[in-house]
Amino acid sequence: MARLFLKRVVFACLILMLWQTASGQTPITVSGNEDGTLKTGRSAVLHDKSGTLSIVGAEQALGQGKFSALKSAGSTRLKPGAHWSYFQLRNTEAKPVSLHLEYVDHQLIDLDAFARATDTGDWSQIAALSMEKPFGHRLVEHNRFVVPVTLEANQTKEFLVRFGSRERGYAFPSMRIWSPDNLEMQYVRESTMISFLFGGFFLMGLFALIAGSVARNKLLLIYSLYAFSKITCWATILGYTHQFVLRESFHWQLMSIGGAVTILLGHIFARTFLQTRQYTPRLDYLVLAMIANAGLLLIAAVFQVKAVALVTITLALLMYPVIAVIAMLRWRQGQAEAGIFAIAWSFLVAGLIMQALRDLGVVEHSLLNYYWPPVASFTEMLTVMFALGYKMRRLYQDKELTEQRYLDHLVKSKSELETEVRNRTRELEQAKRIAEQEARTDSLTGILNRRSFLEDARLRLKLAKRNQKPCCLFMFDLDHFKQINDTRGHGVGDAVLCKFTETVTKSIRETDVFGRLGGEEFALLVEEPENAARALAERLRADTAHINMLANNHEVHVTTSIGLAFSDADSTVEKLLQQADEAMYRAKLEGRNRVVAASQ
Ligand code: GH3
Ligand code: MG
Ligand code: MG
Repeated sequence: MARLFLKRVVFACLILMLWQTASGQTPITVSGNEDGTLKTGRSAVLHDKSGTLSIVGAEQALGQGKFSALKSAGSTRLKPGAHWSYFQLRNTEAKPVSLHLEYVDHQLIDLDAFARATDTGDWSQIAALSMEKPFGHRLVEHNRFVVPVTLEANQTKEFLVRFGSRERGYAFPSMRIWSPDNLEMQYVRESTMISFLFGGFFLMGLFALIAGSVARNKLLLIYSLYAFSKITCWATILGYTHQFVLRESFHWQLMSIGGAVTILLGHIFARTFLQTRQYTPRLDYLVLAMIANAGLLLIAAVFQVKAVALVTITLALLMYPVIAVIAMLRWRQGQAEAGIFAIAWSFLVAGLIMQALRDLGVVEHSLLNYYWPPVASFTEMLTVMFALGYKMRRLYQDKELTEQRYLDHLVKSKSELETEVRNRTRELEQAKRIAEQEARTDSLTGILNRRSFLEDARLRLKLAKRNQKPCCLFMFDLDHFKQINDTRGHGVGDAVLCKFTETVTKSIRETDVFGRLGGEEFALLVEEPENAARALAERLRADTAHINMLANNHEVHVTTSIGLAFSDADSTVEKLLQQADEAMYRAKLEGRNRVVAASQ
């Protein structure tokens, strides 16, 4: 019987303990040395959908047991109105303690805190904090909401804290418990880290701004805008803009605007960097749609159109990984820096996923996931800077390669041009030679014409005179040549002229000068003594007379009259020609087909 009773008592105690824990009835023991590890509130939370519940209403709800433990790992999830949290703090020390209760997150519009000593039963408001009030009303200088509380020696106090998020919003109805000194130290640590991050953003932005302005590079300028927008965005979201810049007139809407601007610039930068318009035209439409969505988000943020803002931000966040996928595609297409960009963007996506998991209450709110998104954002910027550098290097290399190709092309063109000029010169020289040759020769017989005969004969005569050698000039005139033309035709006449030339050429030396003076008159200069010359003339006459050609089954014969003139010390070619001509004329007179020498 007694054992059964004991069992029942133990069971009842267990139930009571569970109920107390669940409804925040178990006081959190504090000693004044708290370091933020202990957190209040999640075990007894009330959702006030309308957001209008007063402290009296909240107290009634508490009495009616309407407070219950938070179902998620910390977040209220996206809910309208306000949330109330109930907890007790018990000071076990024999001295009073002061504590700072710090709201874990930055995105909360109002925080009202009420306290009562369990023994007196009167609730009194100990904090009425709001993002929309001037920063000066804050009870503790901190970028997040902090509520200072005091507990007398061995005192237990009850607290009701209202987390108001206006329309739909996330809240984490929980507060970290700190001793003022510990919170101050933590604040300095966090501020140092944030300063480092912002300094980094600022330097990257400044560098890109200067480099972009100097090099007139659009991409670098967009990057710099992107970096500066990140400073304003994170400074606003994390509460520093309110704390340091717009102390009097901050509005929570600026957070949404800051976020929207950054998303918009991030997408524009990604589009420019990955050159989607050029290389992935179809996916470019998707990127354009994302940019348009971000633009709409910005408009919705500016004009506070909540429903549109909610849809566009959700869409924007869901679409974020698309950019990483496109970057990987571009990387596969051969743009190496797109691979680095994909990694950078993935940092950002990882940050967003972490934020989403936290906001949806999947993971508990912690300093790690609180700072993950800004750190991921910073890492993204840093990695993108690296990708930018890589891209610049590649562009520089491409430029150098193009220059080298251009130079090679120039050298090649130059050598081609030189070869062409050489060939042309050679052709021209050849043509000139041919032209000269043609100018020198008689077109019908191929021997020297009158002008070149005279030139060559003069030289030959000069040479012979220098060597004191005798010369003889022959003047030929074919006999009755007109008759051949008239009876056999002009063509046959031409053939006879050629045959005669051939006959003479066969019998003379290469050093002799033989030319056609015109018509059927020829001249020959040989370096021979008189007798040899006479003999040659006689032979040529006879050879000519033996020419036997067939024309239209008729034999054609030809003879020549030859006049000879022998050189002496005063001879000139002109003189010799005249003498030979006279001798030839005499040969004609004497009956033709004979050799007559000029009298000396
Ligand atoms: P000869 O000298 O014996 O007194 O009589 P010939 O008939 O030869 O006299 P002439 O000097 O009057 O005639 C020369 C002719 O040669 C006149 C012209 O028709 C002809 N002749 C001149 N040049 C050419 C030529 O290139 N081709 C041909 N077929 N005939 C030519
Ligand atoms: Mg004649
Ligand atoms: Mg003649």
